[in-house]
Amino acid sequence: MNFTTKVVHSQLKGTEEIKSKTTPIYQTSAFSFSSLEELEGFYEGKSPYLYTRTGNPNPDELGGLVAALEGAPAGVAASSGLSAILVGILSVVQAGDHIIAAEDLYGGTFHMLKEELAGFGISTSFVDFTDRDAVEEAITDSTKLLYSETVTNPFMRVEDIPAMVEMAKEHGLTTMIDNTFATPFLRKPFTEGIDIVAHSATKYIGGHSDVTAGVVTGRQDLVDKARAKIVNLGANLSPFEAWLTCRGAKTLALRMERQALNAELLAVELRRHEWVKHVYYPNNLSEKGHGAIVTIELEPSADMSTFFKSLGWIKIIPSLAGVETTVSYPLGTSHRSLPEEAQKKLGINTHVVRISLGIEDPEDIKSQMLSAISKCHEI
Ligand SMILES: *Cc1c(COP(=O)(O)O)cnc(C)c1O
Repeated sequence: MNFTTKVVHSQLKGTEEIKSKTTPIYQTSAFSFSSLEELEGFYEGKSPYLYTRTGNPNPDELGGLVAALEGAPAGVAASSGLSAILVGILSVVQAGDHIIAAEDLYGGTFHMLKEELAGFGISTSFVDFTDRDAVEEAITDSTKLLYSETVTNPFMRVEDIPAMVEMAKEHGLTTMIDNTFATPFLRKPFTEGIDIVAHSATKYIGGHSDVTAGVVTGRQDLVDKARAKIVNLGANLSPFEAWLTCRGAKTLALRMERQALNAELLAVELRRHEWVKHVYYPNNLSEKGHGAIVTIELEPSADMSTFFKSLGWIKIIPSLAGVETTVSYPLGTSHRSLPEEAQKKLGINTHVVRISLGIEDPEDIKSQMLSAISKCHEI
């Protein structure tokens, strides 16, 4: 071989003979074939991989992992939580169809339904899911999908999944749940009868705030369709992002257990604090805990600018679910673009703070939080 040939061909190492402990990163855009017969074998289902957009071992590992955790027969990874939600929805509806969604959805999902899918002829009614009559009244001949979240943001309303499943059965509708906040450690909506379960793996599944990723799991036929959408719309997850997400997911149970406990301890503490007007933290999510997000509303007398400046090591981060405790300001970020009326209805105001509990020592979290609360009342 001449140098110019050698320099491109001498790096290739087979992985069959190298038995690493962890999954290698298949950072490749395509796969090679040694004959036309072997290539033909791909189309006959004899070999799984051709081109990374259509399939790659790393995103497949993540899809399979989350499916196994959810107790679902199939799962597929997508480039973000939102793209997972998109392909999940598109596995059920097409132009002319109607969706009924909970009105307190994650902002990104709300905008996707309202601004984007509406433009493709898919309409959505946003309804108060605690009002079963209202949901039932919203059903039309073209309704195909009931969509909600296991736990909503930022007020931690726990969806009544059995009621949702029952209503869908009565009316022949498909159900889909965003299980990001609960994770399969706390709830497995598929095992409770939900057809499609989506995740922003950016949050607890990845768990280390270093990736953007999504997963759809659920009924085999629907996940097959979602996978086709990912391939056709180009919403695949990159091998490296998938690898990082799988690495993070190994500690999901340990993290969720600790983070949910930290949340519970903080919620108890803040509930008896005279300067905390409301504490939003559920008690009915699962027997293993109630999630790791605590949302509070401080008394109107609190100076919010001082509060946010007095949080020390607790940073203001417009996301959640990392191993560090962080806070976010829903009015200024996640719920900023909602109409004022909707903000009011949900209860988002200037004094609402969402706390994402990390894995730190609960005493340190408590003292840092209490110190910020007392400082914002001093002035
Ligand atoms: C973050 C989030 C999403 C969107 O996920 P991305 O990975 O940012 O696309 C969807 N649903 C919920 C509940 C989220 O918290």
